[in-house]
Amino acid sequence: MDSAQVAARVAEVKERIERARERAGRSDSVTLVAVTKTHPADAVRAVKAAGVEDVGENRVQELEEKVAEVGRETVGWHLIGHLQRNKTGKALPLCDLIHSLDSLRLAEALSSEAVKRGVQVRALVQVNASGEGTKGGFEPDALVDGVGRIVELPGMRVEGLMTMAPFTGDERVVRAAFRRTRELLDEVARQVPPLAGRHLSMGMSNDFEIAVEEGSTLVRVGSVLFGERG
Ligand SMILES: *Cc1c(COP(=O)(O)O)cnc(C)c1O
Repeated sequence: MDSAQVAARVAEVKERIERARERAGRSDSVTLVAVTKTHPADAVRAVKAAGVEDVGENRVQELEEKVAEVGRETVGWHLIGHLQRNKTGKALPLCDLIHSLDSLRLAEALSSEAVKRGVQVRALVQVNASGEGTKGGFEPDALVDGVGRIVELPGMRVEGLMTMAPFTGDERVVRAAFRRTRELLDEVARQVPPLAGRHLSMGMSNDFEIAVEEGSTLVRVGSVLFGERG
């Protein structure tokens, strides 16, 4: 896919985000995170040229390769996939925000790396809002307790929540999962002060408009920009 095509798709997605934001009467902003996984480093360059400042990868290995090719400071790097505990040291210097903080043990591993390096880890806690067995993250029942423990760990900055909607064409089910996540963020913020941010990372190519209507501040879209992954 050439960069003119990518630029046209970026403009179209931004327009759709904007319309969803207006429908919801929102005055806060929504950040487009372009998910470049499986695509070459040129995909990062193409979205950057189209005005996108944030890029998402789901594997540390691929993140490392892309950062080496296009530069650490070129865009904001988001780690959106499951992070193994033995990769925390490698991942930390490569990304700006981890969306997929999905267990207390991972938070502990990140915290000790952060302390060792004298840095702060910016992270979103992943919640399994749909209750699907295949989805990672904290169960809603365990979320307040989990976030409460994570924020006590040195070096950890919890800036909000992330979720993935169930794979279904039923818009009501998808919307309910996003709405539940927004309610959970309110509950966490009430019970676990002080949170370092109020981000909601929700919405992928097939459901980002619903997510924006339900309060998403970070949408993670890949295939709508670059085509289906092979
Ligand atoms: C791949 C991926 C996305 C983007 O998916 P698309 O359907 O291509 O938009 C978003 N979030 C996560 C966690 C992913 O792994």
